[in-house]
Amino acid sequence: MANDLVTLGPGVHSFPGAVNQLVVEDGRGGALLVDSGLDESHARKLLRAVEARGLTLSALLCTHSHADHYGGNAFLEKRLPELKVFAPPLEEAILRYPVLEPLYLFGARPPRELRGKFLMGPASNARLAPEPGLARFGSVTVELIEVAGHASMMFAVRVGDVLFASDALFGPDSLEKHPLTFCVDSALMKESAARLGALSGVRVVLPGHGEPTEDLAGLVAANLAAMERVTDAVREACREPASVDELLRRVCGALGVTMTNAASVVLNRSVVSAHLVELLEVGAVEMVVRDNRLEFGVKAS
Ligand SMILES: [Zn+2]
Repeated sequence: MANDLVTLGPGVHSFPGAVNQLVVEDGRGGALLVDSGLDESHARKLLRAVEARGLTLSALLCTHSHADHYGGNAFLEKRLPELKVFAPPLEEAILRYPVLEPLYLFGARPPRELRGKFLMGPASNARLAPEPGLARFGSVTVELIEVAGHASMMFAVRVGDVLFASDALFGPDSLEKHPLTFCVDSALMKESAARLGALSGVRVVLPGHGEPTEDLAGLVAANLAAMERVTDAVREACREPASVDELLRRVCGALGVTMTNAASVVLNRSVVSAHLVELLEVGAVEMVVRDNRLEFGVKAS
């Protein structure tokens, strides 16, 4: 199972793994690939599975700029020189200059520990993807749905009654394993999840991480609940004003998260910051500079 395509609908397949990819056939032996996986080793298996079906990849769309979704690009671009690579606005810049991700997470030139393959893939010659809506990639037409929030910009991909949500929705196991669902804009991520939940005619939804399911409403509800749990934990942590790092420590305590490496800390720190901005913008918390610290605390009413 691990090394073969799984058919989700006519001419639409997933390549399941720790991170799922989507393969959309054009009916003439060509195919659009959506995302490429973490690294060369994964992309090799993916390419083998695609070629075993007699398909030639004509285009690659990356839903967003996280390394586990584009780390296989460089290998595929080398093997298939004609392959055109697309990514949403801003995300496409990170694919071309991958240091941007650890740079924004850390806030300065990142130390070596933050330049591993989970935070930074090999550079890819990506170009700007078409606008959301019906989009053509060679002879394949798919619908791109804007689902920003998990990343600065991200596209979900719909083909007929199959929806590839990418990381706009996580499977139940991922939500349980990572209570601090990654986001750079929590309010937008909630909006995006709700927008997917409002789609009609979706028979099967494939999250970026997890199994395909026919229960779109249930998956959206589980994701929204997980995000609200984090917002609540961050608001609770702000009862006593503190710096982001201290708030992160409190939130991890409340949600049972143990971090053991620098990458987890900077990723989860971004999540807390995202929820702080959401709370700041609805007037629930305030930001002050005190004793040379940037602190967030519940706003005195
Ligand atoms: Zn992601």
